[in-house]
Amino acid sequence: MNKEKKIEKILIVRFGAIGDVVHSTALFRSLKKYNKTFKLFYLTFKTPSFLLQNDPDLDKVLVTEGKSYKILLKLAQDLKKESFDLCINLQPSIKTKIFALIIGAKYNLTYKKTFKLHAVENFWRTAVQFFNDLSLDEELKLYIPDEIKDTFEEAVVKRTPAEWALRWVWNHPEVSVVLSGMSTMEDVKENIRISSDAQSNSLSKKELIVIDHAKKVFNDKLEIGCTGCGYCLPCPQGVDIPENFAKYNDYHLFGTPETKERFKFGYEMGLLNGERASACTECGECEERCTQEIQIMKELKKVKKLYET
Ligand code: SF4
Ligand code: SF4
Repeated sequence: MNKEKKIEKILIVRFGAIGDVVHSTALFRSLKKYNKTFKLFYLTFKTPSFLLQNDPDLDKVLVTEGKSYKILLKLAQDLKKESFDLCINLQPSIKTKIFALIIGAKYNLTYKKTFKLHAVENFWRTAVQFFNDLSLDEELKLYIPDEIKDTFEEAVVKRTPAEWALRWVWNHPEVSVVLSGMSTMEDVKENIRISSDAQSNSLSKKELIVIDHAKKVFNDKLEIGCTGCGYCLPCPQGVDIPENFAKYNDYHLFGTPETKERFKFGYEMGLLNGERASACTECGECEERCTQEIQIMKELKKVKKLYET
């Protein structure tokens, strides 16, 4: 049977860690090159999702707040409506196997790790079980917001965002070891080159200004200055205030009018009806507790307008 003909919608599951999520980008890029019409969904944890939200090869990025049975069961039931053709489960555990079964995709693939091989190749080989002539796109590429990329490109010293990030970590005297994922010999050479002169306090004032500027661009794009501390909770109505704000910020950081539906979908998947902005009755209890003095009721109206109208 030629299974490939029947595949349109694919869900990739990998909750973390960040390095593994980065390594899995080679898999979804290979799939998109293999067949441009594939609709690719990616389910992950919140932090790695920041690396994927802007990715043109993904159709939707879904975020799970945890991997407890309760959370995964609810999520799987919601995702069942999506009628996936294939679920590629790169998170091997009993829980995620059950999760994948509940989703009810026509086909399921589970990650089979071989310790001798790098994660990039292991992920790709998992998909090759199904798409036997799938070529591996080995280049690991991430799409960060253009304005932040421009900040680094305009700096006198030319470095990739990854090199800036590594050097920033090394610059801290309290850091003695930096672990960085590598998948090719070029990555190894690059990391050796960077580490040979990236010592603590090695960044100049000008270089720190470049990083501060990138940070400012990032923060300016954050519409609501919520730190996610959760002090405003519990809301008597059950509104998940920090999550509403996080989803709103995600759109302003990484979204465009063309990708709005993708973010709206993430909002609907990530929050129950009673947790969404529209459930706020404006009692005002939360505002007294907010550590950042955010006008929560006013901001929740913006979230509602973006995602619920
Ligand atoms: S103002 Fe709204 S979000 Fe805040 S506690 Fe009251 S109902 Fe909850
Ligand atoms: S207390 Fe304020 S900053 Fe903290 S999670 Fe709630 S809204 Fe965000």
